[in-house]
Amino acid sequence: MSVVGCVAAGGSGERLGASGPKAFAVLAGRPMLEWSLDVLREVCDRVVVAVPAGYEEGADRVAGGTSRSSSVRNALAAAPEATVAVVHDAARPLLDAALARKCITSLEGFDGAIAAARVTDTVKEASADGSVVRSLDRESLWAVQTPQVFRADVLRQTLSADEEILAAATDDASLVERGGGAVRVVEAPGSNMKVTTQLDLRIAEAILTERC
Ligand code: C5P
Repeated sequence: MSVVGCVAAGGSGERLGASGPKAFAVLAGRPMLEWSLDVLREVCDRVVVAVPAGYEEGADRVAGGTSRSSSVRNALAAAPEATVAVVHDAARPLLDAALARKCITSLEGFDGAIAAARVTDTVKEASADGSVVRSLDRESLWAVQTPQVFRADVLRQTLSADEEILAAATDDASLVERGGGAVRVVEAPGSNMKVTTQLDLRIAEAILTERC
């Protein structure tokens, strides 16, 4: 088994309002990307990072794509030896090794094993004008995160889809599901948050400072 981490760090992260790409925004004294890289290097045989244009210099960095999934495709293409791919968003710097390992071991018998959190809010579907269409059963709902671990052959096949299909996907598991792949959720700790806004950045910084 050759486990390769594929890190999506190729976005611009405009919602964060930082001067450069989000993955390189300084978080608790170092670029955000570095925090999850430390953990992935612990659990993977090798890690490839898809970065924005101008950041390609450095070992195992490849150019990101126009969409998140095309960035993942580029990272995976640089690791033909991979039999298991651990896809992770640089925007989740609080990744812990236990979660990544649990996703890898949970892959047995499946095409994908993905980190997810139980939904604690009540979720409703609403139309564009705000009128509620229906309330969903919270018991069976999961908010999906990364890491997302896949059989590498399945993910390679999945990511060979048209650019348009990749661009419409908000995660890789939905593409695998679309191709008939079997995917399971793995419950993630509450700390595995995604950094999108300045508020998230401040919360992540407080947690990291407490950990160090
Ligand atoms: O923008 P958002 O937070 O949803 O992006 C999720 C992750 O996907 C980020 O880590 C971002 O760097 C990455 N990404 C990428 N290539 C893109 C767009 C986003 O690697 N073209």
